[in-house]
Amino acid sequence: MVNFVCIGCRKNERIPLSVVRDFDDMDAGDPEVPLHFICGACGNEMYPEYYKGIHGFEYRIEDRLGVGT
Ligand SMILES: [Zn+2]
Repeated sequence: MVNFVCIGCRKNERIPLSVVRDFDDMDAGDPEVPLHFICGACGNEMYPEYYKGIHGFEYRIEDRLGVGT
């Protein structure tokens, strides 16, 4: 499972890795914009806490949340 975190309300949601990879596979776009889902609670984007994409790009939520936000 991949843990997704909402950047708005910080809600956590676990998505099966197979589902995440299916999305990643369809998204042939910019690796700087990682796949994400929309939070059902507040409408903000949910990003993976940690995820290594099928194209080798590693992503961590800390990069998105930054310091002091
Ligand atoms: Zn939210």
